[in-house]
Amino acid sequence: MVDRELFALFGNPVYHSKSPLMHNLAFQTLGYPGCYTRWLLEDGEKLRDTFLDLGFKGINITVPHKEAAMRAADVVEPFAAEVHAVNTLVLIEGKLYGYNTDAPGFYRALKTLGPVRNVLIMGAGGTARALSLYLRSQGIDVEVVNRSAPRLEWFKNEGFICHTWESFEAHGHDAIINATSAGLIDDSLPMPKTLLDAALSKAKYAVDVIYGRETPFLKEAKRLGLPYFDGSEMLLQQGIIAFDYFTDHRYTLDKIEVAMRPFLEL
Ligand code: NDP
Repeated sequence: MVDRELFALFGNPVYHSKSPLMHNLAFQTLGYPGCYTRWLLEDGEKLRDTFLDLGFKGINITVPHKEAAMRAADVVEPFAAEVHAVNTLVLIEGKLYGYNTDAPGFYRALKTLGPVRNVLIMGAGGTARALSLYLRSQGIDVEVVNRSAPRLEWFKNEGFICHTWESFEAHGHDAIINATSAGLIDDSLPMPKTLLDAALSKAKYAVDVIYGRETPFLKEAKRLGLPYFDGSEMLLQQGIIAFDYFTDHRYTLDKIEVAMRPFLEL
């Protein structure tokens, strides 16, 4: 019998997740003795005990437990601490190390489109917060537009240029990023169509963080002929970086990508 290290996705819900498919494919292709499952966790305060009791080596964490995962960690990398969101935990010599791989994964995907100097992020939730700080740390100018004002306060305090729909004017961003949940389960656009079309018609690329369906936003970007990627690319890239932590940097990121990418076709 082969001894395998155990990994999982913790969240609520988790039934829809493609993470097990993605990680298990890479374990199999690379010949790493790992197995990845999913764990429905209702109470975030039980995250640490559940992790340790079940004998996991590492986990990913999804909604709504990314803040609880930060509290569960013994050591949190500075970026994850800054955005209050840990989505990867790894047990190393008895200590839980917490990382955020969502934003660096997104950046890895963004770079494949071509040079990006400035972006417009639509949305002001947790995902927008992580992306805005990370992209700025990589030298990209970030502007934020949101449907309503309250959540923009955090961005203003961080020094980002912010707009509500009322004050927004398109002026030519390299990439327009949908970090709202518009289009996730409905057919809404992340901004009124006239504003969105003005922004897209002056942009080079469009990016959506939503995956699993073609959102009205991406349909519009496609109609206008823009190169784009959707949230499955972000999912893949954050998974590659998490896998790198899980396997203690045994492989290059490029090698992990070759092993993992085919899951997109499964
Ligand atoms: P939050 O709930 O924290 O924020 C949601 C944001 O969307 C808010 O700014 C809200 O505006 C805005 N919004 C919601 N509905 C609409 C609408 N109909 N029109 C315009 N704006 C709207 O969500 P998260 O930041 O956690 O997640 C955002 C998206 O990112 C989700 O779709 C999620 O699935 C996706 N995601 C994808 C990942 C991946 O790996 N691909 C990883 C993580 C998240 P307001 O403030 O006015 O309410």
